[in-house]
Amino acid sequence: MSFLSHLECARCAQRYEARALHNLCACGSPLLVRYDLPAIAASLRREDLGGRPASMWRYAEFLPVEDPAGVVTLGEGWTPIMPLERLGAQLGLPGLLLKDEGLNPTGSFKARGAACGVSRARELGVTEFAMPTAGNAGGAWAAYGARAGMRAHIVMPVDAPLINQREAAACGADVRLVRGLISDAGRIVARAVAQHGWFDASTLKEPYRIEGKKTMGLEIAEQSGWDPPDVILYPAGGGVGLIGIWKALDELRAIGWLPQHCRPRLVAVQAEGCAPLVRAWEAGRQDSDFWEGAATVASGIRVPKALGDFIVLQAVRETGGVCVAVSDTEILAALQRMAQVEGLLICPEGAANLAAVMRLRDSGWLPADARVLLLNTGAGIKYPEALPAVLPVLEPEADL
Ligand SMILES: *Cc1c(COP(=O)(O)O)cnc(C)c1O
Ligand SMILES: [Zn+2]
Repeated sequence: MSFLSHLECARCAQRYEARALHNLCACGSPLLVRYDLPAIAASLRREDLGGRPASMWRYAEFLPVEDPAGVVTLGEGWTPIMPLERLGAQLGLPGLLLKDEGLNPTGSFKARGAACGVSRARELGVTEFAMPTAGNAGGAWAAYGARAGMRAHIVMPVDAPLINQREAAACGADVRLVRGLISDAGRIVARAVAQHGWFDASTLKEPYRIEGKKTMGLEIAEQSGWDPPDVILYPAGGGVGLIGIWKALDELRAIGWLPQHCRPRLVAVQAEGCAPLVRAWEAGRQDSDFWEGAATVASGIRVPKALGDFIVLQAVRETGGVCVAVSDTEILAALQRMAQVEGLLICPEGAANLAAVMRLRDSGWLPADARVLLLNTGAGIKYPEALPAVLPVLEPEADL
C-alpha cells in the first residue's frame, strides 16, 4: 500500500495535490513526490521486506501507485550487486562493486522509471502520452505503454541507437526521428502536447519516473545489509537516477532505517563531449548552461541541458561527491576492460563510471579502502556499434 502524500516543487516548495495530473510547478521546476514518512516508519520494519517479491514493487509503501492492481510490470528491479574482485585488485580498490541495471526489462534502468510513470499515469486516467528521449527511455516507455494499453508518441534524435528506434516502434509506439538532439525533440513534444492534449511524459516534467528510479537507492541500501557503499557513481544525463538515489537515501534516513551520518558520496559522471553539469560544478554554479554541440558515444547521457540540473548539483554537493567528465576514448577502453576482466558487457554510460573511477583513484580522491559502487545503467548488448571488432574469417577447410 502506498503512503503517497503530495507533490512538492523542488525549487520553491509549492505543494500540489497528488491525485490530479501535474507536470511542472508554476515556477517551471520539477515536482518531487512526498510520502507520509512517519506513517511508513510506524507501520513497516525493514525486516518486513524479507519475504517480498524480487522486484522494485517490494517497496510499494515508498511508491506512488495507490491501487496494487494498477501496477504495470515486466519484472523490473532487484538487480544484483556484484563484487568486481579482479578489476578491483587491478585498480587498487578491493571494495569495488557493480549493480547491473542492464538486466532490467528493455535492457536498462529506464524500465524502473517507465514502470512507475506509466502505472501512475494510467491510474490518473492518461490514455495517450508523448515524450522526447535520447533512446532507452523511448524503448522502455513504449514497452510499458503497450503493456498498459496506452498510446505512446516518442521523438528521438535521428542518430539515437538503431535498437532504441526499432524497439520502440516494435512495441507499437508512434516513433519520430528528429534531425537534432533530445532538446530539439523536447520542443517538438512540447508543441504536440499543447496541440493534441496528450500527457507530457518528458523527463522531470512527469513527477513519477524519479520514484521508479529511486528504487535503485532503496535496493542499494537493502542489498548492502543497510550499510550502503561510501561512494556511488552514476552516469548523468538528465540526472534522474542520481536524484532518485539521493531521495531514497533521504527517505531511509528520515524513517530511521539508515543512520543520520550515513551519507554515501554521489558522483555524477558525464562525457567530455557533453558535460554541462561538470562545467557548472567546476564553476561553483547552482544551475547549468546549455551545452552546444553535444556529442558522445554514451548516447544516454547526451543531454545538453537538464531540467533538474540544480537538484543534481545540490545532491552532489550535499553528499560530498563530485562531478567528473571522461573522454569517449576512456569510455570505450573502460567498456572493453570490464568485459575482458569481469565478463560483464556493460553499456558505454556504465563504462563512463569505470573511467571516472580510474581518474578518481589516480587523483587520490578515492582512497584504497573506499567501498565504491558503479551503476551499470544498461546492457552492453544494446550497443553493438560501440563494440567494433574485425574478426578473421576462415574457409571451412582452414586450421586454427
Ligand atoms: C538515460 C540513461 C542514462 C542517464 O540517465 P538520466 O537519469 O537521464 O541521468 C544513463 N545510462 C543509460 C544507459 C541511459 O539510458
Ligand atoms: Zn516551484
